[in-house]
Amino acid sequence: ERREKVSEIKLLDTHTINKIAAGEVVERPCSVIKELVENSIDAKASSITLEIKQGGIDFIRVTDNGVGIPKEEVEVAFLRHATSKIETAEDLQKVLTLGFRGEALASIAAVSHVELLTKTSQDLTGKRLEVSGGKIGISEEVACPNGTTFMMRHLFYNVPARKEFLGSSSSEGAKITDYISRLALAHPEISFKYIQNNKLLFTTSGNHDLTQAVLQVYGKEAAKNVMPLYDEEEGITCTGLLGNTLLTRANRNYEHFFINGRTIKSTLLQRAVEDAYKTLVMVGKFPFVLLHLTLDPATIDVNVHPTKMQVRFREEERIYQMVYKAITKELRKNHLVPEVLKNQ
Ligand code: ADP
Ligand code: MG
Repeated sequence: ERREKVSEIKLLDTHTINKIAAGEVVERPCSVIKELVENSIDAKASSITLEIKQGGIDFIRVTDNGVGIPKEEVEVAFLRHATSKIETAEDLQKVLTLGFRGEALASIAAVSHVELLTKTSQDLTGKRLEVSGGKIGISEEVACPNGTTFMMRHLFYNVPARKEFLGSSSSEGAKITDYISRLALAHPEISFKYIQNNKLLFTTSGNHDLTQAVLQVYGKEAAKNVMPLYDEEEGITCTGLLGNTLLTRANRNYEHFFINGRTIKSTLLQRAVEDAYKTLVMVGKFPFVLLHLTLDPATIDVNVHPTKMQVRFREEERIYQMVYKAITKELRKNHLVPEVLKNQ
């Protein structure tokens, strides 16, 4: 009678491909925010406002005053692998923009309700586009300010299995707060405003002053207990702020690493920092460090993982030594030889 049906091999449709791939880029509300805010930075925004509700699960809005998207390109921007940032594989060798994979908008729109409002300074009117579960809905010309507003609602509404894996709205919210704090410190040249459940959590001035940004993001105690870090050697500069021994934490939330403006995680840098502080902080405590490394992009690889949070260094040992020495030098000057302080 009825034979068991042999499955056929078929190419998946674009919508299904986007939904599967969204899993790589969009893990949680914070990953959506990372992609959106990085797009604003790539668009040369000098002011970025982030609003979230319910830990970003129900509502995220990012507003920037960047270059905007030309009207006729708005729908293309939502296609997978659509990017204005690189053209060939060789360009990967020298990526300076935060984005380049052209996956974020397509992925986010595949698993939520999205609304985009954008206008370039060359256009007289802007464009408003709604995309839900990967399907383009309303697309209309509207009057709006220069720049881009991206609104996302109901993350994973059409992927219940993923929604289940999200934490509570307060734990998702905490991840976002940690991320946006780091980002504001990565970019003291940009004014950030962060609003959670209608409450303003911080505003930074965007006047390049890193210590002031620490004050605005983490408060007075933190700003009082940091000292500047600066070192430079053939092609690498290492700048930032170092906390003294009063400013330690029981977790690594106060360790901030930035490479060419990109917020990253790095066990190598973590080791260099913690080794430098070893004799100064108690076991189980971690220092406050804000480390900006500027180096030739050809000496690192950021295309290690879709989230671009990891970096591979070509010269690991050299980077370790440089960071370790730079920090040790500053700490000696400020702590281990207190006379220097008294004489200042
Ligand atoms: P990627 O950032 O990797 O290029 P995305 O999917 O994040 O890919 O964005 C696709 C394209 O949409 C970008 O290359 C850019 O041209 C445009 N875009 C996205 N967000 C913004 C924004 N806030 N301002 C201006 N252009 C944007
Ligand atoms: Mg992007």
